[in-house]
Amino acid sequence: MCAKVEKYYDDASRLSYEALLEGNKRFVAETLQEDPDYFSKLASGQAPPVLWIGCADSRVPANQITGTNPGEIFVHRNIANVVVHSDMNMLSVLDYAVNVLKVKHVIVTGHYGCGGVIAAMSHKQFGLIDNWLRHIKDVYRLHSAELDAIEDETERTNRFVEYNVIESVENVCKTSIVQNAWKNDQEIYVHGWVYELGTGYIKDLQVSHSNKDSLEGVFRFD
Ligand code: ZN
Repeated sequence: MCAKVEKYYDDASRLSYEALLEGNKRFVAETLQEDPDYFSKLASGQAPPVLWIGCADSRVPANQITGTNPGEIFVHRNIANVVVHSDMNMLSVLDYAVNVLKVKHVIVTGHYGCGGVIAAMSHKQFGLIDNWLRHIKDVYRLHSAELDAIEDETERTNRFVEYNVIESVENVCKTSIVQNAWKNDQEIYVHGWVYELGTGYIKDLQVSHSNKDSLEGVFRFD
């Protein structure tokens, strides 16, 4: 048993496991100093107005980049913020957010420089993840004429990142969960954002949906 922790970085200069627990103690102490009732209030329940569907990338944490606090955003993250209708994990989160928490906004947030999107654009094999990235390759297929015509690689990747977000936004709207909520006059807005790692700013892609009208016919439920 290692009783005493002295170093906060491992040999590769990465933050050590122990440093996280120390960080937690600091967080509790500092938070309680500001508000002694903070945790007891938070423990009484959550009513976040937003569901965030984002990339698992460590540089895109929902709360920090939006200046929000614990309790204010319900979060689902995966590689490259993909929304697939057969993903039980995503569907469970969405169902809980819409039907129990009654969130008003669902925001799909991608980010420029997304490793998952870049990998999906390549011809390389990366292992098991290739089967997940296939969903993103399908997005490329839908927009290949426009994307192939963009000569600058960064520009092409950025546009692909945006299309991947737009596709996920539409896939959220296509779910029976969101369509039923709209049918029952529940107010839900589905948005698409892209985070710029290099500046810290979020770009609103202005592709919001608040009803099923924009869905292609075959996806629209009565
Ligand atoms: Zn990413």
